[in-house]
Amino acid sequence: MILNKIPNMDWSDWRWQLKHRIRDENELRKYILPTADEVQAILRLRERFRFVITPYYASLMDPEDPNCPIRRQVVPNLSEISDPVGTLDPLDEIEHSPVKNVIRVYPDRVAFCVNNECALYCRYCLRKRMVGDEDWVMKKQELKVAIDWISRTPEIRDVLLTGGDPLIFSDDRLEWIVRELRAISHVEIIRLGTRLPVTLPFRVTDRLCQMLSKYHPIWLNTHFNHPKELTVQAAEACNRLSNFGIPVGNQSVLLAGINDDVGIMKDLLESLVKIRVRPYYCYQAQLLEGTEHFRVDIERGIEIFRALRGRTSGYAIPQYVLDTPFGKVPLDYPYFKGRDGDEIIVESYEGKEWRELNPKARRMGVVE
Ligand SMILES: *Cc1c(COP(=O)(O)O)cnc(C)c1O
Repeated sequence: MILNKIPNMDWSDWRWQLKHRIRDENELRKYILPTADEVQAILRLRERFRFVITPYYASLMDPEDPNCPIRRQVVPNLSEISDPVGTLDPLDEIEHSPVKNVIRVYPDRVAFCVNNECALYCRYCLRKRMVGDEDWVMKKQELKVAIDWISRTPEIRDVLLTGGDPLIFSDDRLEWIVRELRAISHVEIIRLGTRLPVTLPFRVTDRLCQMLSKYHPIWLNTHFNHPKELTVQAAEACNRLSNFGIPVGNQSVLLAGINDDVGIMKDLLESLVKIRVRPYYCYQAQLLEGTEHFRVDIERGIEIFRALRGRTSGYAIPQYVLDTPFGKVPLDYPYFKGRDGDEIIVESYEGKEWRELNPKARRMGVVE
């Protein structure tokens, strides 16, 4: 393996990692033994969706097992070619952009796609349509136009920096954006959506955390999908963020064969709270082009989270959601069963029925 020959200092240098990313079959062979199908998928999908992996993330892959949960997230698969129902922009994000790269679904908050680059490209990426595409490369002028729009829109109190991945930017460039946003009095919180703590944890340096902590309140959500991703390095990155006062949350995606299993999901979520990362959302996978092999039906998803309720810490349980063009919709098991006169009926986590008195409140002026 090539890994033994790389000096430690280079390996843990995020710029070295970015420069040495895997982009073709030959590079991939230094880490795993790709199957004939994987090789064919790399060639056939080359024009459609970028294939890029950081050496760090590649080192987590099982060299022998094509079903390795790390490998399936980033190595192209022939199943991506045929998918009868997936679309390119399932959330209609383009329709919801008041200005280029700002997506507004809610009155008070926006997702601001500050760039189109990630450390690596997840095969089930929601923004497949734009990531890695040259047309979407954001120039400072365009960022300025978006920031101006936010400053002219006083209802916006929460700005979520996403992309691509905002941590791909240098500290200086990211600081410019955060400083501009912080200068807008109605922007109360700034959030970062980034997968780099998982895919390139060395990016989360003390210097970066120090810089961000000047602009509090800063919140951050990352994206772990499988317990194998919780390495010492990833834990260190999350710990550093927390130590600088940046609360770290996690948004995972429910993915067939990766985490659609109660035991694996429980292990993932409990491992996250052990490193002070709070599971925030678990997304139902979108109806996205080329992702049929990742889809899990919603009833199964509801069962998985129902199986966890009561059987692990409440802190470990994220909200299972479906994202729609109208916003995120919680997908909860219906524990509230209804009303029987003055009583309400609920179901416990073990399926026991509980009734208690809960008369309908008489509200002022309301006759029912
Ligand atoms: C997810 C999302 C948000 C943030 O939603 P929260 O439920 O507050 O985390 C904001 N805008 C868009 C477009 C989103 O997709």
